[in-house]
Amino acid sequence: MTTAQRPAATGALTPDVVERLLARAAAGGAPAVTVHAPVTGEAIAELPQSSAADIEAAFERARAAQRQWAKVPVRERAAVLRRFHDLVLAEQGAILDIVQTETGKSRVHAFDEVGDVAVNSRYYAATAPKLLARRNPRGVLPVLTDVQVRQRPKGVVAVISPWNYPLALAVSDALPALVAGNAVVGRPDNQTALTALWAVDMAVRAGLPEGLWQIVLGRGSVIGGEMIDRADYVDYTGSSATGRTIGRQAGERLIGCSLELGGKNPLLVLSDADPVAAAKTAVRASFASAGQLCESMERIYVHESVYDRFIGEFVTAVKDMKLGAPLDYTTDMGSLTFSRQLDTVRAHVDDAVAKGATVLAGGVHRPDLGPYFYEPTVLTDVTAEMTVYREETFGPVVSVYKVADDDEAVARANDTPYGLNASVWSRSAARGREFAARINAGSVNVNEGFIAAWGSADAPSGGVGISGTGRRHGPEGLLKYVDTQTIAVQRMLPIAPLPGMSEAMWAKTMTLYFRVMKALRQK
Ligand code: NAD
Repeated sequence: MTTAQRPAATGALTPDVVERLLARAAAGGAPAVTVHAPVTGEAIAELPQSSAADIEAAFERARAAQRQWAKVPVRERAAVLRRFHDLVLAEQGAILDIVQTETGKSRVHAFDEVGDVAVNSRYYAATAPKLLARRNPRGVLPVLTDVQVRQRPKGVVAVISPWNYPLALAVSDALPALVAGNAVVGRPDNQTALTALWAVDMAVRAGLPEGLWQIVLGRGSVIGGEMIDRADYVDYTGSSATGRTIGRQAGERLIGCSLELGGKNPLLVLSDADPVAAAKTAVRASFASAGQLCESMERIYVHESVYDRFIGEFVTAVKDMKLGAPLDYTTDMGSLTFSRQLDTVRAHVDDAVAKGATVLAGGVHRPDLGPYFYEPTVLTDVTAEMTVYREETFGPVVSVYKVADDDEAVARANDTPYGLNASVWSRSAARGREFAARINAGSVNVNEGFIAAWGSADAPSGGVGISGTGRRHGPEGLLKYVDTQTIAVQRMLPIAPLPGMSEAMWAKTMTLYFRVMKALRQK
């Protein structure tokens, strides 16, 4: 395995940039924490933390700004997203430096985040006016009952996002909330707060009113409850365990929530698949951001007729991966972000090996590159007693299983409480689609790993089972942030018997009317 040099610098993240960004945070009332770069161990920032009073003030500011913002025509709000799109692309060099410094990921995976934000800002700018337009559905009595359906913003949306995709997950859920007329109070993970603060700064430069997108800082377990107590809607991305807590807290207040949670995603190489193409894509699909991606593959089921070809190509490609996280595009995979992620990865691999699994590639910690580097790892002979068989690793570890037929692959893919993402490989698109439809997952990519579905912004993304409830992307990703309001105006005649008409005659007339409407196939 070849390696690249350790980065010596934090690129655009100079001390004065850090200071400027921190001034945007609604924080300071609680003791600061020091944040370190995962790759170099250098301190990046003394991050102020938000007290309950800071959070209260952030929600008040957001609420005041939202009242004005809701009056701004949707087309003007959408124009802010268009300008934001252009700034994200123009400033990508600095953004990538910050994302890499905070997470330790390679630049190629950091760029996926820039792409995600660009695609979503363009999509919601283009679609918001239509999605939010007033509708005039037919009234109970055509002509006499005039009905309008309006979309009212929820108010202030709390976006609680994790550290693994700090730009995409802090921003791409906030954009549709904002364009729908809401304010956002975001709580990025402490480890990746500067990325979120850069995004807010950029949004203000794109024309977003000051105050509308607030950032509070703190550990989720400390300030999450304070946020949910004040929010009108909660958008949470993180583990299934925390998702349950958030869901309970939102339920107590009877506010809506969208929960984007964990996965144990399967990739199926069917009997008629091209094993070489599948192996090539499986590398990216398993090891993006060192496997710290909710959509990445942790289980691969390969039909026995193509197994040898697949495994040969896959293991060779994995062994060829270049490790390192310099601020350029020269490496294939970066570091894990925290020591606790490294601990989980080592525990899962060590447990599997102790119980008889075979390591075909990786399985090695690489402190020579940085404290949390771990080689991309391919396991076989994994059995149900091993932790890695069922539990999400959220690291660069994938288990490959040989299966005797394609139906077995589907059955084993579905043998999990998770259901976030899946990948199916077949030379026939129709057959791929047919198998995809049998998999319990919110998205299934045919002849792709995750980017085909994830990157298609007009298509919803989210989980089933313990992978979550609610959707991001597509119309669903915006409409969750509005309440529909129906305003019905009754004109000329009441919905009641005409003067002199008995209730019995009214019932008869209405019965006739219902029958005619059905005969005319009216809705
Ligand atoms: P985690 O649930 O421990 O933490 C995630 C974030 O939630 C952290 O920033 C944390 O501070 C915050 N948090 C923790 N307790 C909280 C609480 N009570 N209230 C509010 N916030 C709280 O998960 P993790 O292990 O750090 O993150 C990885 C997990 O996130 C994996 O399971 C991964 O699959 C999942 N994830 C899912 C998606 C998705 O879109 N479905 C995307 C990224 C990550």
